[in-house]
Amino acid sequence: MEEYSMRLKISFIVSFIALPIVFMVTLMYQNSSFGLFEGFSKGMAIGGMNQKNFTIGVPNVTANNEFGLRSLDNFEGRNKSAVKIKSSKSIPLTNSTSTPSKEINDDEKDKLLDGLLVSGFDEASCISRSQSHFYHKPSPHKPSPYLISKLRKYEELHRKCGPNTRAYNKDMKIIANSKNNSKKSAATTCKYIIWLPANGLGNQIISMASSFLYALLTDRVLVVQFGKDKEGLFCEPFLNSTWLLPENSSFWDAQNVVTYQSMEMTNTSNEYLPSAMYVDLKYSPTNDERFFHCDHNQFLLSKIPLLFLEAGQYFVPSFFMTPIFKDELNKMFPEITSIFHHLGRYLFHPANEAWELITSFYQQHLAKANERVGLQIRVVNPYSTPHQVVMNQILNCTLENKLLPKVRGTKNMSVSSSDKNKTIKKFVLVTSLFQQYGKNLTNMYQNKSTVTGEVIEVYQPSSEKEQKFGDNKHNLKAWVEMYLLSLSDVLVTTYQSTFGYVAKALGNSIPWILYNPVHNTNKEICEREFTLEPCYHYPPLHYCDDGKVIQDVASSFHNIRHCKDFPFGLKLVNTSV
Ligand code: GDP
Repeated sequence: MEEYSMRLKISFIVSFIALPIVFMVTLMYQNSSFGLFEGFSKGMAIGGMNQKNFTIGVPNVTANNEFGLRSLDNFEGRNKSAVKIKSSKSIPLTNSTSTPSKEINDDEKDKLLDGLLVSGFDEASCISRSQSHFYHKPSPHKPSPYLISKLRKYEELHRKCGPNTRAYNKDMKIIANSKNNSKKSAATTCKYIIWLPANGLGNQIISMASSFLYALLTDRVLVVQFGKDKEGLFCEPFLNSTWLLPENSSFWDAQNVVTYQSMEMTNTSNEYLPSAMYVDLKYSPTNDERFFHCDHNQFLLSKIPLLFLEAGQYFVPSFFMTPIFKDELNKMFPEITSIFHHLGRYLFHPANEAWELITSFYQQHLAKANERVGLQIRVVNPYSTPHQVVMNQILNCTLENKLLPKVRGTKNMSVSSSDKNKTIKKFVLVTSLFQQYGKNLTNMYQNKSTVTGEVIEVYQPSSEKEQKFGDNKHNLKAWVEMYLLSLSDVLVTTYQSTFGYVAKALGNSIPWILYNPVHNTNKEICEREFTLEPCYHYPPLHYCDDGKVIQDVASSFHNIRHCKDFPFGLKLVNTSV
């Protein structure tokens, strides 16, 4: 009897105390994101915008505010199968003939973007990762099996040597201790890149993607230096690890690190390689040459455990100029024009705070449209490029190319409700630092009927007036708007703007480019872009072997051409079509 009561006690302890503890510990382990966004998602619901003290500044240019905030239950995005989705665990009803297991597999395949993403993440810590496929059109560009295998291997490497791991801590100590001793580079378990931010958010995103590809090509671990200005923007991209440089890292400051430019790379013997080096790929008027694209420099850089990389540019085309990278690149990207599309969708998932703003705005203002037209209007200097000139250019571009309808007379207000339901609705998302553009378009379509009978509504989420640096809310708005633009069916972007490059690549949308209306008087007002790839604005200038100036890019480098929107720059193109 006593033995029986003892057993009873033990089973009580196991079931009511030990099991829940084991369960909790398992959950905590799975949920640990080690990062900036840890814990943010707890208890957060999509659509709860008023819980936040930040709301994106919508309405003063909004033509029509007829849609209230809609929950995902009523969501009618691109993918009608998402209508019934309440939580990311629900299975969307694809069509009546499909079997449940097929639905699960299809949903999983869509969610993981054809294998680009890995499963196993805690969905609540990054809601966008499991929901973005309801908003973006399915991509016709499939990641190659080789790219997928490289990503899975990279994730393993990052788990082994990412920040806060034992290997990382040990390696960083070794590097710190030998940093100033340039006699011999230190022997470490892994090698690293610390990415440093430069310029605006669009520039930073394209340079992070380039740095990540460089990490894949050179078996390095990518660590990013994010300040407070990036809180709430991006999820952690790598499973069960962080890519954030710890705040207390002695490598937060790259000053006093040997610069790549200062070294005579060609004459450097192994004996004199430092443990850390600063690689500056930024554009600067004085820095007119870089031999980063040359095999011999890559060979020497490969021996240095830690590289600080600052670029603010999309330097991926330079890898295609570097012979030692060619084979790997060809295997990873048999389709050369979707590199940033894949890297961007792999790396940049809006964190919950950003995702809440994106989905709320989308559902409130854009979901009901038959067609969404995104206009990204980047005016760097309104004094040299007056708003009226830009406005005329936008109208010429969108009306002449029938992206938006012309207007006539005054509006007929007495449309019956049945006609209203039949009317085609085009909603225009305007992003700009200046409110004039949204306001002008709103006035135009509010007061006049369109020749096609379409209803046009115009929304401009914010008008920040000027670019700000190091400002978290400002960056959040910029990221939200880049992402919203990527959800457009038709996209118009501004020449040379990396803000627009991010939107087009995430959305797989070949945009119309607005050229500089002042300098390019003999050019078209706008023209259709020909690839999703960003332009490398300030590329290498010289050949590696003889140091002579690169004259004819097309005959020297396969798949590289000058950009349409910035002819000095280079971009990857598919030359076989
Ligand atoms: P780029 O300068 O056009 O190549 O784009 P970047 O994103 O690198 O830098 C421009 C920065 O200015 C953005 O990151 C924002 O901070 C701000 N900005 C420019 N245009 C807009 C806009 O339309 N909306 C918002 N919210 N911010 C903008």
